[in-house]
Amino acid sequence: MDGGIVTTEIPQRVDVGIVGGGIIGLAVAHELAERGREVVILDDGARPGNATHASAGMIAPVAEADVELPGLCEFRQWSHQLYPEFVARVEERAGVDCSLRRDGTLLVALDRDHAAELERLRDIMRDQGFEPQPLGVKDVLDMEPGLSARVVGGLLLEQDDHIDQRVFMQALRIAVERGRGRVFDDVVVERVAPDGVVQGHHTRGDGRFELECEQVVVAAGSWSNVGLDSPGAELPLRPVRGQVVRLHAPALLRRVVRTPDVYMVPHAAGELVLGASVEEQGFDAQPTAGAVFDLLRHAWRALPGIYDLPLKEISVGFRPVSRDHLPVIGRLQGRVCVATGHFRNGILLAPGTARLLGQLLCDAVQHALLGHFEPQRFAQPVEKTTNG
Ligand SMILES: Cc1cc2nc3c(=O)[nH]c(=O)nc-3n(C[C@H](O)[C@H](O)[C@H](O)COP(=O)(O)OP(=O)(O)OC[C@H]3O[C@@H](n4cnc5c(N)ncnc54)[C@H](O)[C@@H]3O)c2cc1C
Repeated sequence: MDGGIVTTEIPQRVDVGIVGGGIIGLAVAHELAERGREVVILDDGARPGNATHASAGMIAPVAEADVELPGLCEFRQWSHQLYPEFVARVEERAGVDCSLRRDGTLLVALDRDHAAELERLRDIMRDQGFEPQPLGVKDVLDMEPGLSARVVGGLLLEQDDHIDQRVFMQALRIAVERGRGRVFDDVVVERVAPDGVVQGHHTRGDGRFELECEQVVVAAGSWSNVGLDSPGAELPLRPVRGQVVRLHAPALLRRVVRTPDVYMVPHAAGELVLGASVEEQGFDAQPTAGAVFDLLRHAWRALPGIYDLPLKEISVGFRPVSRDHLPVIGRLQGRVCVATGHFRNGILLAPGTARLLGQLLCDAVQHALLGHFEPQRFAQPVEKTTNG
């Protein structure tokens, strides 16, 4: 053996190679496989800080409407509309019930500051065409009897949904593999070239691989700059750390409840997710006492019954964020596209991202939304040379 590149089980050629098997890579793979493309997902399987794994699974175009950026509100609403049908197709193909929950989000105020914040959010939501329903104390406590007597009011956001994204990920993977897709979760991608050649190594053993792709989609979350081998291809991406606590809490809440300080998401499996911190700590995947303390304290103020619940898990994820806080979706260079930068909304935006890339790669259609998200917006201006 001369140390050259050896392809083991990974094929030598494929229609579309996808770097990253988080929610974005899997959703894009599913869409492309459904449209008849042969896809290969390349993921390293065990990277600390995988955002999808840590996420709370909210599909919340209204509760997330607090940030107004060009194209983002429209993209959230469009992706949200695509969700039921997208999940139904995955469920049918995979034979797995993904339990998309469509019971809305209850936004709750526990004091005067919270009440003022809810008023501010309500104005923004109305500007974006939503009609959150104001609720009195009795309405809130009738809907969620476990909430604290501190409640001073609330808003019902009927459109917001949620899903256990870990179950959804498993279903997506099965659906991809039952279609024209293969998922490798033991490979590290080191280099992606503009001509579609992807190289890397296996995490088990020392084999290397080289995959020739008609098209490549880099969907590696916060790590999407990995090995993008072309001048000017470096994206201004950074990880924004989020910590969440998972408790065993069968039936403590009926729907998602948020205060301005914390959200609480009940998953069908009897799990309550408390989230989330928002921290600029680079790729440090160590959970901290302070963040966990804050989450538990804020959640306990709203829902005192959590005090005696068994602790299940503390997890850390890196939200992929671009410099302008908008997603980065579209053609980067040559045969290489990118889909990242989904920040706090990657679960919500997965079907929309998959649809945008499906149209781009299969129909050569550039949806108008891509004008806001294209990676070329970060390209360095070419320096003018002057004579003399
Ligand atoms: C605490 C927290 C809570 C959140 N809650 C919500 C929510 O309720 N709703 C919502 O819409 N969004 C939420 N988000 C945001 C959402 O989770 C992210 O936007 C989304 O998961 C990003 O998905 P991704 O596929 O781009 O990245 P990731 O899920 O991070 O996946 C990237 C994948 O690429 C792989 N990879 C990276 N580099 C390489 C390489 N060189 N070779 C091989 N594989 C590689 C990684 O191992 C990983 O599997 C939350 C995020 C966090 C952190």
